[in-house]
Amino acid sequence: METRKIDYLIIGGGPVGIQACRMLRMSRPDVSVTVLRPEPFSVIYCAIPYVIEGILDPMQIAKKDELITETGAELLQIPATGVDFAAHTVTLEDGQCLQYGRLIIATGAVPFVPPVPGSELKNIFTVKTAKDTEVIKNAAKAAAKVVVIGAGAIGIEQAQAMKALGLDVHLVDMAPHPLSTMVDGEFGKIIADQIVAAGIHWQGSSPLQNFKGIHAVEEVVLSNGSSIVLHPGSDFVIVSAGVKPELSLFRDSGLEIANDGIVVNDRMQTNIADVYAAGDCVHFVSGIDGRPLGGKLATNAVPMAKVLAKNLLGKPATYKGFFNGAATCVSELRVGGTGFTESFAQRRGFEVVCGFGQTTSKFPIMPGAKKVQVKLVADAKTGKLLGGQILGPDAVAERIDVISLALQHQLHLSDLAELSYSAQPWQTFYPAANPIVMAAEEALKKLRAL
Ligand SMILES: Cc1cc2nc3c(=O)[nH]c(=O)nc-3n(C[C@H](O)[C@H](O)[C@H](O)COP(=O)(O)OP(=O)(O)OC[C@H]3O[C@@H](n4cnc5c(N)ncnc54)[C@H](O)[C@@H]3O)c2cc1C
Repeated sequence: METRKIDYLIIGGGPVGIQACRMLRMSRPDVSVTVLRPEPFSVIYCAIPYVIEGILDPMQIAKKDELITETGAELLQIPATGVDFAAHTVTLEDGQCLQYGRLIIATGAVPFVPPVPGSELKNIFTVKTAKDTEVIKNAAKAAAKVVVIGAGAIGIEQAQAMKALGLDVHLVDMAPHPLSTMVDGEFGKIIADQIVAAGIHWQGSSPLQNFKGIHAVEEVVLSNGSSIVLHPGSDFVIVSAGVKPELSLFRDSGLEIANDGIVVNDRMQTNIADVYAAGDCVHFVSGIDGRPLGGKLATNAVPMAKVLAKNLLGKPATYKGFFNGAATCVSELRVGGTGFTESFAQRRGFEVVCGFGQTTSKFPIMPGAKKVQVKLVADAKTGKLLGGQILGPDAVAERIDVISLALQHQLHLSDLAELSYSAQPWQTFYPAANPIVMAAEEALKKLRAL
């Protein structure tokens, strides 16, 4: 087959592929852009639990191909099977060879199943693709019990979907409390209580030891000595224990790869000329302390793709690092976190000071007012903000974004103590107090007493 020339070749049609493609083609309609995306459609991953639960139809979480094709870019539903950086070529599964001017690697990440004995047994599922969604949805119809391994946001959302479908749900994690990368123990305990109140069996501090079974998993054995027995062939396990970068295409290619993905500079350039990468497939650093940090979130992937595209368009831009603002729902409770938790900051070598703030979500005299709790974590030496956590009935993600902005601009507790906020009876506490300001003031008081 003849080699075809393309100005910008993008491997991957997830958030990075789509964002980069749109920016390139919309600013430069004269350049050719091809996106490789083997799956029939790109999925809004965050909404998968709601398809499994039956709130959404599977096609509602399919992104439209037009996001790519309406820009005039070419979309090929064919996987790349080989790269030759010296020749600037990518080979596709059907034998086509594409020669790129610039290559953008946006291959994402795939769910990780800990390689414990029995991990090859049937009825152990992970959550990422439309196919996974269908498989889990169908499995839930025949099952009575499910074990969800990993109580991060994805695991908790799966556990809740399974509970809504009427299954007996066991949620286990090696960490002592759920959402351990998002919140510390005080809030973790509240979240665990909420999970238990929802009728989900919760076991923390329980690393997975192995799976037992002949063909399908029959028993999940935990290293605390307990085990959960499953009906063989119908009950199942969902593993949501993290993801690893999808880099199978680049083994022995000369591309510099670290443990969490492709090494890129702050302009998203790899060590290979004319090759860029962004999103879940890259290894990057924290925006707080500049040291390597995991950050496999769509809300990191999209800004990285913007930086990448701007640089290709000749508008120099730099990516400042991960802050990892994230949110989820545990029954009616909304949970959010950004930056470092207290325990993580300590592991990174910080001496920390923390402050708590609590108000109600509306004026206390208004119907439906509920508790809003904020925890701020700061560097005890400088007062510089390191992270924040929030629990509440609503507007948690929005409040977390305020703290993320403070982190991005390296603000101090004193800056948050002076936050100029708004107040309205249905939406906030009285003008007299704001929970972020209260938390900052409390931490400042402790700091001054140190
Ligand atoms: C269940 C779930 C829930 C999530 N919820 C949230 C959330 O609430 N908030 C949030 O911020 N993030 C969330 N995430 C994470 C988020 O989805 C990812 O961070 C984001 O999708 C990363 O985008 P990406 O473009 O880097 O990679 P991906 O979206 O993984 O896209 C990778 C693309 O590369 C393609 N590809 C891979 N190999 C090849 C090859 N050889 N040839 C051609 N194409 C290839 C894939 O087919 C795919 O199209 C969630 C993820 C999951 C799985």
